[in-house]
Amino acid sequence: MKHQFLLFVSSFSLVLCDLASYLRERENFLENENSRFLGSNLELTSSESLVNDYLMNLKYAELDYGFATADFMQSQNFLISKPKYDSSQVFQFIKQMPKGGAIHVHDTAITNLDFLVANVTYRDNLFMCLVDNKINFRFAATKPDDTADCIWSSVSESRQNSGNVEEFDEAIYRNLTLVVPDPFSEYPNINAVWSSFQKYFVTSGGLICYEPVFRDYFYKGLEEFYEDNVQYMEIRTTLPTIYRLDGSVLSDFQAMLTYEEVFAKFKADHPDFSGAKIIYAPSRKVTEETVYDYISLATVLKRSFPDLMAGFDLVGQEDLGVPLIEFLEPILSGQTESDLKYFFHAGETQWNGMSTDLNIIDALLLNATRIGHGYAIAKHPLAIELAKNRNVPIEVCPLSNQVLMLVSDLRNHPATILMADNFPVIISSDDPPVWNASALSYDYYAAFMAMTSRNTDIRFLKQISYNSLFYSTLDGDSKAEAISLFEQKWDIFIQSFLKRILPSFVSYN
Ligand SMILES: [Zn+2]
Repeated sequence: MKHQFLLFVSSFSLVLCDLASYLRERENFLENENSRFLGSNLELTSSESLVNDYLMNLKYAELDYGFATADFMQSQNFLISKPKYDSSQVFQFIKQMPKGGAIHVHDTAITNLDFLVANVTYRDNLFMCLVDNKINFRFAATKPDDTADCIWSSVSESRQNSGNVEEFDEAIYRNLTLVVPDPFSEYPNINAVWSSFQKYFVTSGGLICYEPVFRDYFYKGLEEFYEDNVQYMEIRTTLPTIYRLDGSVLSDFQAMLTYEEVFAKFKADHPDFSGAKIIYAPSRKVTEETVYDYISLATVLKRSFPDLMAGFDLVGQEDLGVPLIEFLEPILSGQTESDLKYFFHAGETQWNGMSTDLNIIDALLLNATRIGHGYAIAKHPLAIELAKNRNVPIEVCPLSNQVLMLVSDLRNHPATILMADNFPVIISSDDPPVWNASALSYDYYAAFMAMTSRNTDIRFLKQISYNSLFYSTLDGDSKAEAISLFEQKWDIFIQSFLKRILPSFVSYN
């Protein structure tokens, strides 16, 4: 009997001992894992920790609600879940937070659609016609000549004659936006959604590319990002043809001068803005010969505008475009002859082992400075290693990837896995107004809620903001100044937020 009792005690303590060591091991494991997450190297001040506690309570509440109800907005298409984003307190927090730079956006999709509809389409000398049920616009001194498939009419007269101005404007809006009541039936596959997406650029192009509008559109776009607490931008452009009322057009050189003037004016009006740069990014659906032309133009522009021109990229739907492997010679010549920097959109695809998936390998081997999207990189462990070793970041645009149908539930975005292991990631917004987002906060919020762990905190948000400046093409001094400006803005934000949530708070950092 005594013997049996001893056995019981010893086996019980053995279990206890095992349980304790198991839990310790588990805790160590999770701690180690957390220490590898993007941003986990940052140390928080006591003020930041207080703000972080506040933010994390909001994050926990939203996630726990989603876990309990399976109603999680980032798992739903942004085209229908956007109102939920707007009502989120975490989103409101992120909106107020300094976010560094937006370094993956496209020039003709940076400004709210309301500006185009309510402002630009009300300007004089605007004409419209319907081609394949899509509106084309054109500013002209007199009505342009009709063609078989395009019968022009004055927008102001058509609006007046429509009998319902609101409905008329709504129809224009519908021609520009991807937002529809039922995206699943409207866009049955990736080609369908891309086809509508590309129509946006046709319809908006006639409005935006009129020289006076072009200047206003850019200025307004910079303002929207600035008001969203973005301090720096790198903007891809196809260098679209900018036209005047008399039908004359600007040369590429004049177009670059226009960007330069708008950026300079904006910076003069907003001294705490670190500036903006241009990445020349024409269509990838072209011949090798055309890419030679692109590269020589990029080289000339880089020489003429060394501070403004950041580098070169190719854009358009990758799966229907031409892969980088077809353009090796012109791309290599650009690098050897003029030290052109590359920012290729690469691996914006769901396919594995196909030509577009392999763009990710070519982008890396071609020494890309950054990779646009890089969605496919998670399937290539050697590419991940190479990118990490060379410190080549990917520019992840969560909402773009969801709306353009690479991933329906953002929790399944492959960058989630990369960020869990401190892979260099930048979060940006691609073409936000087309899906009724704006500036940068929606994408930061989506990444924070759906693409990080429940316990990932404000350090992640601070790190992606740092990354957007650290991996920018700002040169040494300007980069240091931009980072120092970001830190000042961040401190002001933390202190003013603390005063709001803890009115009796006195700074002690
Ligand atoms: Zn893009």
